[in-house]
Amino acid sequence: MPSLYEEYSPWKGAHFMDRLAAIKKGGKCAPVSLQISLTNRCCAKCYYCYVENSNKFKVDIDTEKLFKVLEEAKEMGVKAIEITGGGEPLVHPDAWKIISKINELGLDLGLITNGIMLDPEKLGKATWVRISLDSFNPATYKKIKGVNMPDMKLIGKMCKNKNVTVGASCVITPYNYKELYSFAKKAKEMGFSNVCFKPVEVENRKVLNRFEKIVKEQMDKAIKLTDNNFKVFSLELRRNDNTEAKPFPLCIQQHLAAFIWSNGDIYSCCSLQGNKNMVVGNIYKGSFKDQWFSRKIIGIKDCKIECFFAGKNSFLNYLVGDNPKHVNFM
Ligand code: SF4
Repeated sequence: MPSLYEEYSPWKGAHFMDRLAAIKKGGKCAPVSLQISLTNRCCAKCYYCYVENSNKFKVDIDTEKLFKVLEEAKEMGVKAIEITGGGEPLVHPDAWKIISKINELGLDLGLITNGIMLDPEKLGKATWVRISLDSFNPATYKKIKGVNMPDMKLIGKMCKNKNVTVGASCVITPYNYKELYSFAKKAKEMGFSNVCFKPVEVENRKVLNRFEKIVKEQMDKAIKLTDNNFKVFSLELRRNDNTEAKPFPLCIQQHLAAFIWSNGDIYSCCSLQGNKNMVVGNIYKGSFKDQWFSRKIIGIKDCKIECFFAGKNSFLNYLVGDNPKHVNFM
């Protein structure tokens, strides 16, 4: 059960009742956050990466165009920008310029990176950084990611900056499933604020079934490292948040977090990236704001994938619903 106060809390929607009121009336609202994939290129070669293993385009987002989108986003009332993968965002030639622009506009910043090109001096003001590491063991790291480990001294320095929540993420694979506890322990020693474990393939967790017992033992041990300064987000927690049959009548999450892919395509949900039928606009074809507010809303049956945001969506449906049972009996 996630805690109210944690980073991945499904209850954050309660802070955006003004937006939810507009949705309840059948309207639309500006997203609270905007995820942007700067590039599909990468400096690592993770064996499980769908971009690395596909013939998908390898393209960088246009910097000037993106600046316009960021300015519009600020004007619309977007609060936070998450610079994210698809590829490694810091490979974009203007990545640091884009990060400075987000800082200048006073938008909250979150960054997902593999850490290889991370420069703590250039980061400016960020709310959080999540570094995809998968292993602290150089040999395991190379097997999974196909390249050498990033500069761990630099990452250690980054962890010491207490103004930023620095998390380490670990994709559980057949190469590292015995190292989950040592991963969390090392992360804690280095000063990371949290670790987040995820199964190797969201669609095909079967690959891990063979190791389930050991994964569980490792996770149980890792979770015991949790204290006030360090959290472990677990596979089990993520699994509970994922259900194929959607236990909510409407997708509300699609209104609150937009996603822009490195080819400029706009989506109402990051999980839909790459699905051409679910593209709601493109930043090269007009204003982000106009396209966002004129987009088609996704009906629950239109979304054919497992909802990663099921927990959030269920609570958001509660917030926009009428007459919760015995609501006045507090
Ligand atoms: S996965 Fe589908 S149901 Fe879930 S938030 Fe995204 S669009 Fe909505």
